[in-house]
Amino acid sequence: MPKKLIFIDCDSTLSSIEGIDELARLRGDETFRECENMTNKAMDGHIAIEDVYGARLDLIKPTADECEKIGQLYIDTVETTALESLAALREAGWEPIIVSGGLTQAIVPFAKHLGIERVRAVDLIFDLDGSYAGFDGNCPTSRMGGKMKVIDADKAALGAEKTVMVGDGSSDLETQPFVDLFIGYGGYLERSKVKSEAKQFVYKLSEIPALLP
Ligand SMILES: [Mg+2]
Repeated sequence: MPKKLIFIDCDSTLSSIEGIDELARLRGDETFRECENMTNKAMDGHIAIEDVYGARLDLIKPTADECEKIGQLYIDTVETTALESLAALREAGWEPIIVSGGLTQAIVPFAKHLGIERVRAVDLIFDLDGSYAGFDGNCPTSRMGGKMKVIDADKAALGAEKTVMVGDGSSDLETQPFVDLFIGYGGYLERSKVKSEAKQFVYKLSEIPALLP
């Protein structure tokens, strides 16, 4: 069977939360509001992701334990139709891959829960005691255009013939010219730019299998 890849965003798509904002919440209301504001500006396309990435993490300095907690929170807030939708997609020959500007160490436990093997996100660096020591700026999804790079690389490496991207944000939408189909997701946040420009737009992941060739 020809290889078919479906790239799915994590935050506000596979789960209702924004992982980095939830980490910020652990630091109190003020830090939370500051981070949420930066995330929204980036996801609405008003500022570049790379301009907020390090800034948000420097405010939060998440520990390894805290990332693990967010991993459980992703599981607790999974999109209600995600598991059945992923099963239907696999049945139809699609391999789901998570592509996210979120943090690898928080997303991996969630991916395991979903049975998703490949996670393309941003790796954090921890000291031996688990305290925050920075992030790997070479991870493509910490920058604008990063999701395209990930998709292109996986498409080539895995020899994929068809690619689909699903997500709620502007960093997802910018992949539209590079995939066979882009599907906007508005189950949690309906972003007007994504809604108006996406070729397809859904409110539940379970609507997706029927849209694919
Ligand atoms: Mg998202």
